[in-house]
Amino acid sequence: MNKHFDVAVIGGGAGGLFFTAQAANKHKNLKIAVIEKNQRVGKKLLVTGNGRCNLTNLYANESDYHGSFAPFIKNVLASCSTQRLLELFADMGLITRADDFGRVYPKSNQASSVLDVLRFNCDKDNVHFLCENKAYKVVKENNFFKITTDKESITADKVIFSSGGAAAPKAGGDKYGYELLKSLGHTIITPSPALCPINVKSEYIKSLKGIRVQGEISLISGNKTISTETGEIQFTENALSGICVFNLSQYVEKDKDYTLRIKLMPETEFSEIIDILSNNQRVFGKLDAENIMTGIFHKRIAQALIKSARISFDKKVKDLTEREIKTLAKLINNFDFNISGLADFNNAQLTKGGVKGDEINPDTMESKKIKGLYIIGEAIDCNGDCGGYNLHFAFATGYIAAIGL
Ligand SMILES: Cc1cc2nc3c(=O)[nH]c(=O)nc-3n(C[C@H](O)[C@H](O)[C@H](O)COP(=O)(O)OP(=O)(O)OC[C@H]3O[C@@H](n4cnc5c(N)ncnc54)[C@H](O)[C@@H]3O)c2cc1C
Repeated sequence: MNKHFDVAVIGGGAGGLFFTAQAANKHKNLKIAVIEKNQRVGKKLLVTGNGRCNLTNLYANESDYHGSFAPFIKNVLASCSTQRLLELFADMGLITRADDFGRVYPKSNQASSVLDVLRFNCDKDNVHFLCENKAYKVVKENNFFKITTDKESITADKVIFSSGGAAAPKAGGDKYGYELLKSLGHTIITPSPALCPINVKSEYIKSLKGIRVQGEISLISGNKTISTETGEIQFTENALSGICVFNLSQYVEKDKDYTLRIKLMPETEFSEIIDILSNNQRVFGKLDAENIMTGIFHKRIAQALIKSARISFDKKVKDLTEREIKTLAKLINNFDFNISGLADFNNAQLTKGGVKGDEINPDTMESKKIKGLYIIGEAIDCNGDCGGYNLHFAFATGYIAAIGL
């Protein structure tokens, strides 16, 4: 095989495959190589959305994205809105459905449908898959790029960098792509885990393991509330987890002190909580203190609140003082956990950081530093919230690069 290609795509994940499917269809004479380090392309796609692949969101807008590329997200959404993306997928043969939160999934509810549709649309004579090939050196020589993998060396007129981020290494996540981009002259905003559980220091977190509550959770630094989310909050052995917490994890910076504050009854006024507890004091009077929250919370949450209020477990509900009831009522909407750090890349869905946003032309995804080099997807310093925004970004930037070639 002639080892010179018109385009070399580094990384056969969401963005790389979407780019290839679109480019191969639009530019039929283009000879494209997809270089993928895994045995197969699209491994990470299969684990997305708990195996269902939440591929976009009906309500995607600028405020769902963060990082140095965020100011340019409007260009991306203008070129490839949710509606446009769904039309493109429909043309490629994928039928989708949306849930009440606007999260779009394949109608089959299987991530493998998305991957198969992308793979089959890439299955053209002009596309060559080079799997089990890890790109470890990329240089621009005169008018073409030389890409050295652990197996071979190829040249290409243009390179699409779709090597993703460092999250979920078992599914292909790899920091090395950032090194390659750095060696090409790009500034890399330090990669760190995002959309991940947040570790907490707490005397009762272990006892809450496995419990899920509906509530409101805020990330607080000093007196400032940085962001607030509502929904299901999950307790693990040493961390808080769930979509709400994942979204908050994007704001956590290294070596800073934060508190996570849970409102267990966010819609209930303090005075109303007092009324509820007072009623329970009457009903459950003979029982031990924690039972004042019988019928409201999981038993272990009630125990943690009693402990936090420094109330003796032996005390009877009827003997709780007015002050103790007020303390409990306050704690119910100020259930605080000090943060000890973030989970690692193994437990993260995304990488925060990557190529600095203003080094890329958002209308073509071409590098402003190196002509013919295009950067798409998670390799860019752009992190979206949970809900399909990150796959949208990978697909949309792949599409923009394909039409701009
Ligand atoms: C568990 C999990 C669940 C998720 N669920 C969702 C969801 O439901 N919705 C959503 O929007 N987002 C979700 N995400 C995030 C989403 O998967 C990513 O943002 C998206 O896949 C990024 O696309 P990409 O093409 O940039 O990178 P990837 O899809 O990660 O593709 C990068 C590819 O490049 C390959 N590669 C890397 N380095 C090299 C190299 N040097 N040489 C050759 N190949 C290389 C990798 O093996 C990989 O195949 C989830 C992530 C995880 C981990």
